[in-house]
Amino acid sequence: TRTYVITGAASGIGRATAQILRDRGDTVIGVDLQGVEVSGDLSTAAGRANAAAEATGLAGGTVDAVIACAGLSLPKVVTAAVNYFGVTEFLEAMRPALARSTAPRAAVVSSMASLQPVAPPLVEALLADDEAPALAIAAELAKDPQTGNLIYSSSKQALSRWVRREAPRADWAGAGIPLNAVGPGIVETPMTAELLATPESTAHVDAVVPMPLNGHQGPESIANLLIWLTSAENTHCCGQTIYCDGGSDAVLRGDDI
Ligand code: NAD
Repeated sequence: TRTYVITGAASGIGRATAQILRDRGDTVIGVDLQGVEVSGDLSTAAGRANAAAEATGLAGGTVDAVIACAGLSLPKVVTAAVNYFGVTEFLEAMRPALARSTAPRAAVVSSMASLQPVAPPLVEALLADDEAPALAIAAELAKDPQTGNLIYSSSKQALSRWVRREAPRADWAGAGIPLNAVGPGIVETPMTAELLATPESTAHVDAVVPMPLNGHQGPESIANLLIWLTSAENTHCCGQTIYCDGGSDAVLRGDDI
């Protein structure tokens, strides 16, 4: 059996992933604002560091895989903090515990939204890995609902690019740790409940995120892919964002692969 640390484990995709792993006998240490093994706030640097230290302690120092699911879709500054730094800084803080595993793996949840319009200055500022200036740009965008919506897509595009940039480097590939992302379409979780609450709002979502294969997806569709990416069987998948989105990427990006 393996020991997993899963952020966002109290709800949605993270909870479904934790449940599948526990049911098959693996050990899961959940990290979330509340309701799981480690209570921590991934929107702050101190919260990330404390959560990583506590999770490492509960695991006895060795962690086989980290799966970062915690995220927000609100048009607010905190979305940039949690979706980007709450993943990248947390993963960095978990690297020593991963390095003690014989088959360490890491996976994060990006989104098909990474393919949608973004605010390029925010994407670049996030990728510079300097939180204060990046969040200052997000604060400007958050002043207007129109530009506020770009915070989510920008955070996810930056996250997918961070995975692609970091995965081949010495800290990850060089240490034998596959690092990858999954890009879901519309997953039925508390995050999307309001979007899918009425026929009108659902029609709008379906126009923006076409899902010709089987429509909206359950959280297990993403959980099972995260579990494979973080299994010992994954020996060569490196730096990818794997879209598991009912065909949204194939429709929207077409030949531009
Ligand atoms: P969810 O709201 O059900 O779960 C997200 C979890 O993250 C919650 O338990 C929440 O408490 C936790 N979280 C939020 N802020 C936090 C913080 N500051 N510190 C610690 N934990 C925090 O949503 P979900 O649909 O399961 O989303 C999981 C991931 O999947 C997110 O990164 C989301 O952006 C991504 N995603 C979701 C969809 C979708 O359609 N639901 C689509 C694409 C990507």
